[in-house]
Amino acid sequence: MREKLAINGGTPVRDTFLQYGRQYIDEEDISKVVEVLKGDYLTTGPYVKNFEESLAKKVGAKYAVAVTSGTAALHCAVLAAGISKGDEVLVTPMTFAASANCILYVGATPVFVDIEENTGNIDVSKIEEKITDKTKAIIAVSYRGNPVKIDEIMSVAKKHNLIVVEDAAHAIGAKYKDSYVGNNADMTIFSFHPVKHITTGEGGAITTNNFEFYRKLIEMRSHGITRNIELMENKDDPWYYEQVDLGYNYRMPDINAALGISQMKKLDVFIDKRKELSSLYSEILKDNKYVTLLEDTEGGFNSEHIYVIKLNLERLNCTRREIYSALIKENIGVNVHYIPVYFHPYYRKLGYKRGICPVCEEFYERIITLPLHVSMSKNDVISVIKALDKIFKYYSIEA
Ligand SMILES: *Cc1c(COP(=O)(O)O)cnc(C)c1O
Repeated sequence: MREKLAINGGTPVRDTFLQYGRQYIDEEDISKVVEVLKGDYLTTGPYVKNFEESLAKKVGAKYAVAVTSGTAALHCAVLAAGISKGDEVLVTPMTFAASANCILYVGATPVFVDIEENTGNIDVSKIEEKITDKTKAIIAVSYRGNPVKIDEIMSVAKKHNLIVVEDAAHAIGAKYKDSYVGNNADMTIFSFHPVKHITTGEGGAITTNNFEFYRKLIEMRSHGITRNIELMENKDDPWYYEQVDLGYNYRMPDINAALGISQMKKLDVFIDKRKELSSLYSEILKDNKYVTLLEDTEGGFNSEHIYVIKLNLERLNCTRREIYSALIKENIGVNVHYIPVYFHPYYRKLGYKRGICPVCEEFYERIITLPLHVSMSKNDVISVIKALDKIFKYYSIEA
């Protein structure tokens, strides 16, 4: 007998909807933001500086530059890397479109490199075959919070004289071989969107150990303007500043940075909580015949941004879409991370065709993201598992 599903009018496993991700804000966060509102500066001031210092310190990098979003951080990084029209940049397709869009912003060409089927990260062994004499950089995404093999990527890059940008929008607090993500690539970008580990409302940052990149990032964040006397033609007039390049207004306001400062203090606690919840998922799902768990990079510490599983669809009498819809009807806020970037109509119009990264395409067909955020309890995880079990039983080929 098939059990009644919520889709067929049965009662959902949960009576309230569980979001797949959300921010955690407490009174301390609120009073820190209020402090700025009562003060002298609203936009980029002492709080931004303080936030940058705490980020740099956390990841062990020399410099951090806060900007208005992770996307702005990617744009600034690509500009600071000197990438422009005619250049090619290698990037993974298993990411949010912004990781590749930044390449298009500067008129360069994204070249997609396939992924590892067990982690979803860029397959380092496939990087070299995509390098041409136009290749200038690699943008590697530490997908889910699981770090890329940055040492291997850096050594391929060194051999071919490429700049490496790590997109660590998922991976603040992650480590590779005991070194924090943010300290190993030429530049690393972070996002502080509300679904990420810590939030500033909207916000992002770049960390680097290279002073030249740092200097360029500072210029790009604010119209290409410098106040560095050594870089200016007019060194005499005290009010003087010079626009030396074409930049943007990507300055993070102090209002947002205040929230970031307060959130940063909770980062380790947030990661512990995410670890606890994701371990519980893995513990329960590891022997489930309808699920394949993703793996973590050897020598890495996954800071657990999203919990992605692969569905063993060959054992189920349904599509991923049916599982997805059934979970939503059970009040489980699932998601799919990600649609391969070159599947989007905009990329198709640019000439990208299906089939260029077959592992990624097969991966995409099976993945589903289960809810994972700091406000969740272990019982929430149990309710997700219950809903999955109910749906798997319903659709099982053996049923
Ligand atoms: C969130 C995200 C971004 C973009 O960050 P925003 O702050 O939303 O602009 C870029 N790359 C990845 C992998 C992301 O998850």
